[in-house]
Amino acid sequence: MTARLTIAIDGPSGSGKSSVSRAVARRLGLGYLDTGAMYRALTWWCLDRGVDLTDEDAVAVAARELPLEIGTDPVAPSVRVDGTDVTQAIRTTEVSTAVSAVATNRNVRPVLQQLQRDLMARIAEQTGGVVAEGRDITTVVAPDARVRVLLTASEDARLQRRSAELHGTTDETAVAATRDQVVRRDRDDSTVATFTQAAEGVVLLDTSDLDFDASVEAVLDVVAAETAE
Ligand code: C5P
Repeated sequence: MTARLTIAIDGPSGSGKSSVSRAVARRLGLGYLDTGAMYRALTWWCLDRGVDLTDEDAVAVAARELPLEIGTDPVAPSVRVDGTDVTQAIRTTEVSTAVSAVATNRNVRPVLQQLQRDLMARIAEQTGGVVAEGRDITTVVAPDARVRVLLTASEDARLQRRSAELHGTTDETAVAATRDQVVRRDRDDSTVATFTQAAEGVVLLDTSDLDFDASVEAVLDVVAAETAE
């Protein structure tokens, strides 16, 4: 995998990592892996089948059996579970609210992490590289990635971005309604992954004062610098 251009991007909710990672993959002609979509797909499947999310063993069994097909085209990411297109369904508030219960299950994480390594290797082979994004890609899933970036932004900036994305506005009510999806979810998620401080060798990029295009350029600059060495 090291001969391929492997780019790992982590960050909290609203840091812009999904849209920035997709744009970077597109610009570099690489495949894309959204690991958050995998936790979301597992959550959706458990909810759909009535699996109790607090039953850690049952959810871990579901993780091992998950019939997942994940698209890796950065322009049109898609997710299917057991033949059903869940690309939209995994973005609902119901799934966003429940996903941390699945992601903090310590029997689930190694299963999805191994699947992510396998997918990254396969995508890299097919397209010459991969941009994989999530919470623990720079530290656990692909610590040997050629380029590792932690995208951050102030809590204020992240709340505003998510609010605009989910509600189309950044008025007070919309921002308050977004708080659970950003602040509470990150607090829960940070009990099992470190994504607010850059690990050794990981480049920290604060996008609080950068717009989308400038954030993409900043990541591309890091890629250029790291691969020039
Ligand atoms: O990035 P996104 O918000 O879609 O991620 C959904 C959830 O998946 C996160 O809140 C977190 O609980 C989980 N996740 C994770 N590790 C990753 C990616 C996502 O635990 N590498």
